[in-house]
Amino acid sequence: MKQYGLIGYPLSHSFSQKYFSDKFERELIPESEYHIYPIEHISELPALLKAHPGLCGLNVTVPHKISVLKYLDWIEPDAKSAGAVNCIRISSESPVEAAFSGELGVKGHDFRLEGFNTDIYGFEMSLKPLLKDYHDQALVLGDGGAARAVKCVLDSLGINFKVVTRKPHEGNLLFKDLKPYHVKHATLIINATPLGMVPNVKEYPPIPYEAITDKHLLYDLIYNPEKTLFLEKGEAQGAVIKNGYEMLTLQAEKGWEIWTLKGMHP
Ligand code: NAP
Repeated sequence: MKQYGLIGYPLSHSFSQKYFSDKFERELIPESEYHIYPIEHISELPALLKAHPGLCGLNVTVPHKISVLKYLDWIEPDAKSAGAVNCIRISSESPVEAAFSGELGVKGHDFRLEGFNTDIYGFEMSLKPLLKDYHDQALVLGDGGAARAVKCVLDSLGINFKVVTRKPHEGNLLFKDLKPYHVKHATLIINATPLGMVPNVKEYPPIPYEAITDKHLLYDLIYNPEKTLFLEKGEAQGAVIKNGYEMLTLQAEKGWEIWTLKGMHP
């Protein structure tokens, strides 16, 4: 049996578990199962891998996307530059072989862990079709694990951006200092905070919504609910809106592609 799963904490509900279980059934993918593994501390990962020798791939979610890096033998360049991993391929390639290929930091186990960031792919592919040439300035709301993928994509597309946070960080704007002119000039606004996510659907990022125009594109990484108050408020101002559902499915499929690359299974 090939096992796949999700690590994170807490894991009360999981899109990925339902997505992959449905996929395995629909596409008649044999001998495969997907489970959730709620681990509070990333230091529990080696024991988890030992206890589940059939694991071929893992998704990684809050709060481990950054702390997992030190457990990996190899990190794909985009994930490395983002500094966050949300997808791990567990390969049985012998560490010795891999060490000879020159790309491995051997960590004393008989498999190797390869890290990827499929949020980058999912965000880029779902954003690009909506971009107009005037979307050249952006605001990224929040600066956690998902924002790292967002920033990486904006960099690669040559879109200037400012990050908006509630606590001061060098170079960031604070929500409380955000003025209408910041919003007016940044025609692309991405919500990478959990504000407005189920069950807290009455919440929304505190930005001057009155400065949003029909030239704006508001992208919310949240997919549940379908239309957050952030998106609702943007739509009321005439903005184009997009939720995180397509990103989510794109990143999941990319993960599957990575896990099932020929010759990579144990
Ligand atoms: P994270 O690592 O916990 O980061 C959350 C960010 O939001 C942090 O910068 C945090 O700031 C900020 N934040 C939290 N509560 C806030 C508040 N009340 N006011 C202002 N800022 C606040 O989470 P993440 O992994 O980046 O995920 C962020 C969101 O993206 C979640 O809703 C998640 O479901 C969604 N997401 C969607 C996809 C997709 O495929 N669609 C993929 C990944 C994530 P502090 O540091 O100050 O706490």
